[in-house]
Amino acid sequence: MAQIKVSSKRTPIYRDSSFRFESIGQAEKAFNDENEYPQSSVEFIYARYSNPGTLETEGEIAKLEGSEWALLTSSGMSAIDMALSIFQKGKETGTWLFFSELYGGTNSYIDSVLKERRGIEVVRFNIEEKEEKYDTNRLAEMLDTLKPKLIFFEAMSNPLLIVVEGDKIIRMAKERNIKVIIDNTFATPYLWRPLESGADIVIHSATKYLSGHGNILAGVVCGNDPEIKKQAMVYRKLMGPILSPDDAYRLGTQLKTFHMRFTTQCENAYKLAQRLDKHKAVKRVRYPGLESHVTHREAKELFKDKGFGAMINIDLRGGRAACDFFVKKAADVVSYTPTLGDPETILLHASTVWGEERFPYPGMLRLSIGFEPYKTLEKGILNTLDEITNEKF
Ligand code: PLP
Repeated sequence: MAQIKVSSKRTPIYRDSSFRFESIGQAEKAFNDENEYPQSSVEFIYARYSNPGTLETEGEIAKLEGSEWALLTSSGMSAIDMALSIFQKGKETGTWLFFSELYGGTNSYIDSVLKERRGIEVVRFNIEEKEEKYDTNRLAEMLDTLKPKLIFFEAMSNPLLIVVEGDKIIRMAKERNIKVIIDNTFATPYLWRPLESGADIVIHSATKYLSGHGNILAGVVCGNDPEIKKQAMVYRKLMGPILSPDDAYRLGTQLKTFHMRFTTQCENAYKLAQRLDKHKAVKRVRYPGLESHVTHREAKELFKDKGFGAMINIDLRGGRAACDFFVKKAADVVSYTPTLGDPETILLHASTVWGEERFPYPGMLRLSIGFEPYKTLEKGILNTLDEITNEKF
C-alpha cells in the first residue's frame, strides 16, 4: 500500500495512551531521561507524562506568558492544586498566606483541601474593611510577623475586580525569600506578565480567555525555574491531571485569536462601563477602568494603560427584583451563564452563587463582556436598563 504523506500545520492529535519503542535500549534511555529530567527527551513514553500535541500548545502558552515553560492541566483548579502542592513539604511546609479576594472555588479548595484535609497552616490577608482594596503596608507587617513560605493572589480578583500592586508585592515577597504564585486569569498575559517581575509561578484557568469560546476546560502553570518545573512535572505525572491531546489541540488553535479577542473584549467593556456608570437604574459600577474604581490607580500602573480587563460588576438600584427582571428581559443579548471569557457577554448573580454573607449585594450582577459587535451589546443592555427605570424597581 502506498504510504500517505501529509504535512500539517499543527502536530496531529496522538490519542495513543502509550508510545511504541523499537528496542529495550531505546525504552531504557527514554525512561532514564524521564527520571533524570522530565520532558527533556524528545521521546514520548506515556500520555499521562506528556504527549506531542500538549507539548506544542504548552510552548505556545509559554511564549504568550513570556515564561521558560508552561504545563497544561485539565482545569484551572488542577493548575492551582499543582502550583501549590509542589511547595507542600511535610513539616517544612510552613505558613501559606492567601489574599482574601479569590475565586470562590479557590477559597473552598483552600479551606476544605489545604486546611481541613492536609492540615496546612493557612492565613488570609483581608482587604481593608471600608475599602475594597489591599493595604501593602499591612501586608509588609504580616510578612514580617508571620514569615509565610508562600503567598498567593489574583492579579485582578474574582468577582470584585480588585487590582493589586502586583510588582510591589512581588518585590516585597522576594526581599523576604517568599515564593509567589499568581492567578492571572482575569488580567491575562496581555495586561500583565508577572514572571517578568519575579513571580515564581503564574497560573491560569485557560477555560476562560486563553481558550475563549466556553468549550474547553483547561488550566496552565507557567514558570521560569527549571527545578520548579521538575517538581511540577513529577506531580502531574503521578497525579494525572494533564490536559488531553484533543483539548490541547483545540486550545492551541483558539490561542491564535487570543489577542484579537481579548483586546476587543477590553474595548467593549471600557465603552460599556462608561455608559452603565451614567444610567439611572445602576447604583454602582465596579470596573477598574473607571476613575471611581478603588483600584483604578493600581490598574493603570500595573496594566500600563493597555486596558482594564473585560469584567464589569453592576449594582442595580432595584436590588434582586431588578436583577431577576434584567436576566429575563436581556436574555437574548446577555445570558445567565456561570463562567467568564466567552465570546458573548454573559452574567452571574454573585450573592446567590457565593453567598450573601460574602457578597451582601443582592443587586449585583457580574458581567463578562464578550467580543460581539459593540452596538448590539450596548443597545440590548441599555434598553433593558431603561425598562427597569420605567418599571420603577
Ligand atoms: N481562577 C479563577 C480566577 C477563576 O475564575 C476560575 C474559575 O472560574 C478558576 C481559577 C478555576 O478554573 P476552572 O474552572 O478552569 O477549573
